[in-house]
Amino acid sequence: MTEMTLDPRQLGTGGLFTAAVPDLASHEAAYGRRPSGWTRSPLLRELEASGLAGRGGAGFPAWRKLAAVGAGRPAVIANGAEGEPLSRKDTALLRQAPHLVLDGLVTAGEAVGASELFLYATAESLPGVGQALAERRDGPRVTLVEAPAAFISGEASAVVNALETGTALPRDKAARIARSGYQGRPTLLHNVETLAHLALVARYGAQWFRSAGTADDPGTRLYSLSGDVPAEWVVEAPGGASLRDVLRLGGAEPSSLAAVLVGGFHGAWVPAEAFDLPLTARGLARYGASPGAGVLLALARGRCGLQASAGIVRYLAESSARQCGPCMFGLPAMATVLERIAAGERAPWLASEAERLAGLVTGRGACHHPDGSARFVRSSLGVFKDEVRAHLAGACTAHHGRV
Ligand code: SF4
Repeated sequence: MTEMTLDPRQLGTGGLFTAAVPDLASHEAAYGRRPSGWTRSPLLRELEASGLAGRGGAGFPAWRKLAAVGAGRPAVIANGAEGEPLSRKDTALLRQAPHLVLDGLVTAGEAVGASELFLYATAESLPGVGQALAERRDGPRVTLVEAPAAFISGEASAVVNALETGTALPRDKAARIARSGYQGRPTLLHNVETLAHLALVARYGAQWFRSAGTADDPGTRLYSLSGDVPAEWVVEAPGGASLRDVLRLGGAEPSSLAAVLVGGFHGAWVPAEAFDLPLTARGLARYGASPGAGVLLALARGRCGLQASAGIVRYLAESSARQCGPCMFGLPAMATVLERIAAGERAPWLASEAERLAGLVTGRGACHHPDGSARFVRSSLGVFKDEVRAHLAGACTAHHGRV
């Protein structure tokens, strides 16, 4: 995947995606030294004023996460696991701006009085981060932990589990890691992009951050753009930009596309007629889509959305840890039903069976994997409802003929 930057003012004053890993000297020349001495309350107020929301998927306000961390030797974790196979933005960020992520991690750690800092990322990312850390000998110790290349390796409780046991399997979603996370201690876990933004808010302030994006979605966002596009890109775009704008910034021609999957495999399809809506949870509420971790998968006109969706549901079914009933039985069953619809089987009940299975698995897993998978299935059935009808009659609208 190629990287580019579109708003170098924000995440990289000298350009986020440069050819070489920026060393500490060039990082400090671009941004200045990391401002030390942030304590919890002032940082919390600055983050609240900035409107910074998490960039790892859930979009939780960064200040709320910080406020929720209890007292008592907290741990802070930078999450760069990027288990979503179409996501590349965290890898790109860690390669091109590792010091910015480390600045955010150390600043958050200082603010909550952390006793331990971790950076959890893929094997591909760790050498560059290790190199950056070696330059910061006078800073607090940061432990690097390798994230396995698995879809659920970045799920919050799986991250904590990986740090404690070396196994990245989710745990009970009811447990709040802000109170009881790593080794039972209060734990703050942020995506690496969120921490990079936090480092900039700590340097330049909330108003500077809000000078890009919209009131609803301030700052910039990184997007991993793939699928039916001329080239795969990681793009930085202002918050609140429309899908059409983000596609164009990434070199794609929106008129050639039928739909875009927004938010990755736990996300939702957005059809071409909605490309001018703001790429925000509010703007795309009708489709149940939100930017999530910034994954955008483009689907060209003439390609069958149901076949693409069935492939994704099969992937999701095979990606679970098979610890819970919905993942053992429900997800494979949903994948099979979607595959039968995509194959043009003339069985009208298949659509309602897919809906039924989506309802059955929702809320039943130890983590949110079944919920995200069910959401994606519902989105596929809704956005491609004309295709569903045609397939169940043995035809395919995308292929203008038989399936
Ligand atoms: S719901 Fe699925 S992915 Fe989540 S812990 Fe249970 S088996 Fe694993």
